[in-house]
Parts: sequence; C-alpha cells; structure tokens
Amino acid sequence: MTKKLIIGNWKMNPKSVRQAKDISEKITRGAKKFKNISVVIAPPAPFIGATKGILGAQDVFYEKDGAYTGKISADILKSLAVKYVIVGHSEKRYPLSGGGGDTDETINKKLKAVLNARLTPVLCVGELTRDHQSHYLHFIKEQIIRALKNVSKNIVGKVIVAYEPVWAIGKNAKNALDGEEALHMNIFIRKVIADIAGATTAKKIKIIYGGSVDVKNAEIFISLGKMDGLLVGRESLMPQKFLGIIENVNRA
Ligand code: PEP
Repeated sequence: MTKKLIIGNWKMNPKSVRQAKDISEKITRGAKKFKNISVVIAPPAPFIGATKGILGAQDVFYEKDGAYTGKISADILKSLAVKYVIVGHSEKRYPLSGGGGDTDETINKKLKAVLNARLTPVLCVGELTRDHQSHYLHFIKEQIIRALKNVSKNIVGKVIVAYEPVWAIGKNAKNALDGEEALHMNIFIRKVIADIAGATTAKKIKIIYGGSVDVKNAEIFISLGKMDGLLVGRESLMPQKFLGIIENVNRA
C-alpha cells in the first residue's frame, strides 16, 4: 500500500519563527505514529529552516540563479532540505492585485525546474466556478496539459496533482466538494494523465484534494473520493485539528 500524503500549506502564517517551530514540533510529534501517512509542512519560506518534519515550499522561481530579487530557486529549496514544492496554487495564479500572477507558461517552467532539481512538484489545478455544461472540465484538462508541456512522459508520474476547486478554498466543509464529486474528478484527472503519459502513469500518479478540508470531511475524500491525500490550508496551522485530519485519513 502506498503512503497517503497530507500537505499543510501555511500560506503567510504563523506570525513568528518561534510559533512555526512550536506548531511544526507538535504536528511532527503527533503524526509520528501514522506510519502510512507522509505529513508535509509548507511554511513561509523564511521559516523553512526552523520548521520540523518533511518540508514543502509554497512556490519557486524557475531560473537557476542570477539577478532575481526576492525569488527562490529550486536549488536553494533543495539546500534547505525541502522535498515538495507547490506550483500553481490559485493564490499565486490569481493574486489579490489581480495581475502579475502565475500563468500556465510560468507554471510549466516552475514545474520543470522542480523536477530538474529532483524535488517533487505539487501541481495545483482547479476551476474558479462550475457550470452545468461542464466547461470546467475542459479548463482543468487544459491546465494540466499546459503545466506538463515538454515534460518527458517517463517522469510525469513524479508529479503530484492537487485538485483544488478555487470556489471551495477558504470556505467550510459544507461548501467543499463531496466525496462523490471528488471521485469523479479523480477519475477525470487520471484520464487526462493517461492521454498525456499512458495508462501506467495515470494509475500510479498521486492525486490529492484541497479546499476546506477539516476533521469532518477529510475521511470521505480518501474513502469515497479515492484521493491519495490532502492539501490542507487553515486547519494545518492548528496542531490538534491537523492531527485529527491525519487520524481520520489513517482510518479511511
Ligand atoms: C489551500 O489554499 O490550498 C487550501 C486548501 O486552503 P483551505 O484548506 O483553507 O481551504
């Protein structure tokens, strides 16, 4: 049985490095007993060195080095022992200012930079809204195709796809996806991957769900949605709640 993957995306939290250390210590200590689950924490970049456990990064820049003020390369992340790198999160695709966010092209470059550094990219895809004609499926398919452009077929399986419907992020369990919808999306994304890289890769690639996951709904995405794991925002900053999610995934 392959391990489930649970990634906590802390976004621009907590407020201090001390808190980052404290929260991550509590999570890693509590999660140790769940041998079938890999728990990853993606803190703000300046806190990476102080965060305990398996490390993730929230973003990366695609160039190797050079005059790029404020940017962080995949090699820099690697030197900090980061293993997983989130690429194309909706808050990076559609920043508050409304412009200058990640495009399919920059996401493709970032994803390739992460693979070149032998790190694991976590590619976020997801529709902004749903429509009755199911145009959103085409939107997601295009996001995946463009993100994986020129990625050699034999390494597509190293990518983790995080399905995060944007309308379900930052809401509550009632407004998140349900288990059956998660299963539909799981099957759909595997079909898209099969067309790109073949059936074997489509079968083995990890697909995780993100968007208002909490202790109440976590289990359903795994048991009914057949997801390989979860990407958790707010609840990953609260050790008790995050550990509750991990425990429920372990039970699923
Ligand atoms: C996210 O932004 O990736 C996310 C899943 O957030 P939340 O769990 O808070 O909805």
